[in-house]
Order: sequence, then C-alpha cells, then structure tokens
Amino acid sequence: MIDTALHQGRRRKMTKGLTAKNTYNENVISAMSVVPRHAFVSAGLDNMAYEEKPLAIACGQTISQPSTVALQSHLLGEVKGKKILEIGTGCGYQTAVLLQMGAEVYTIERHKELCLVANSNLKKCGYDKAHLFLGDGHKGLAQFAPFDAIIVTCCAAAVPQGLTSQLATGGKMAIPVERENGEQMMVVITRVSEEVFEEEEIGKCSFVPMLEGVVK
Ligand code: SAH
Repeated sequence: MIDTALHQGRRRKMTKGLTAKNTYNENVISAMSVVPRHAFVSAGLDNMAYEEKPLAIACGQTISQPSTVALQSHLLGEVKGKKILEIGTGCGYQTAVLLQMGAEVYTIERHKELCLVANSNLKKCGYDKAHLFLGDGHKGLAQFAPFDAIIVTCCAAAVPQGLTSQLATGGKMAIPVERENGEQMMVVITRVSEEVFEEEEIGKCSFVPMLEGVVK
C-alpha cells in the first residue's frame, strides 16, 4: 500500500473539513487521519478518495462519505477495547476506522465478492485482526454476542430484533432506518437495561438498502 505525500495532504484536508463542520470524539478524527481511505476505493477513484462524497465500490454498493463514517463512529461512544458488530462491511473502510480506534470488530457482508475485497484491503493496510463474515446481517452473530456497540451501514426497513437482542446492556446501536415517508433517519438505540431500549433520532441520512440473504 502506497501512501504518498499527496494522499497524506488530502487526508489532512479531509479531517480538517470534518472538524470545521462538526464536533466528533477526538479518537474518531485521529483514526481517520491515519487510515488510508484511498486504499479502500476502486483503483480509478484514487484521486477522489478524500472528497466528501460516497463512492462506488463493487457489487453496485458504495463507501459512505467521510462525514457519515465520522458521525456513526462518534455515535457509538467509546469503542477502545470494546467488541463491535458492523453490518455491511462493503470495502472495509469503516471496519478499518473502528480497528484503528482500538475496537475489536466483527463485521458481516452479504456479498461474497465484497468480503474478499474488504479482506484484501484490510490486510494490505496492516489490519489483520478483523473478524469478517459472509452472511445476512439481520441475524447478527449470536455466537459472539453480546456486543458493546452495533453499527449498521445500510438502511433497514425496521430495526431488526435479531440485532437489538445482541446489544449489551449500556451498549449503543447506530442504524439508518427507513420511515413511512420513504426518508432515511439515523437512529441511535441505547440498551438501558435487559428490557428497556431508548431511541434517539439523529438526523436524515442516505444509505444503500439492507437486503435479505447472501449473494455468492
Ligand atoms: N461500511 C461500508 C459501507 C458499505 S455500503 C464501507 O465503509 O465501505 C453497505 C454495505 O451493506 C453494502 O456492501 C451491502 O452489500 C451491505 N449489506 C446490505 N444488506 C446487508 C445485510 N443484510 N447483511 C450484510 N450486509 C448487507
């Protein structure tokens, strides 16, 4: 993986742009200032990797724009040393940011091709500790639950029960949910106790849909 002065300069500009517009946990920004985002986008998009835009990846999917990655990482609260479940590995960029923040990351992707892409992207950047799974994220990963936080990077039709049940007490889940008017809303669900969940609406957002089943 080659990280040129040009890439580093663009990355600095990206993180400056993020902090100029919003306040994020400091470790979110320090992680994003290290992770080489250009290594996660398709070869032809290298020069756009640090722009505030979602970009196309394989299988008709997208890598979320930098501010969305920053916001979702921020919404999870302290992740260092915590066990996190991510739904929608995509190209693996968000996974890398969470690993760089010191989290233990379990991540599920429904496209086999993207699992392979993410695995290769993460390895070439030296992130060899991610737990990657091919599967349907609606079910989570019961065998590794509970998770201290859950991040869903695709838009759910409704909050999947299979996921809330795998959230540890005190844990937070950041999930885009489609509302009746078709708009997508970023929602944070906090498991206050075994039985009690609190929901907070953060703001409108735009994600690819969370779909059923696996594509091999
Ligand atoms: N976190 C990613 C964002 C990828 S876009 C990144 O940093 O690049 C969202 C991803 O969610 C897509 O790759 C899509 O295939 C995946 N996805 C959609 N529905 C899913 C499901 N039910 N289970 C797992 N992954 C899913």
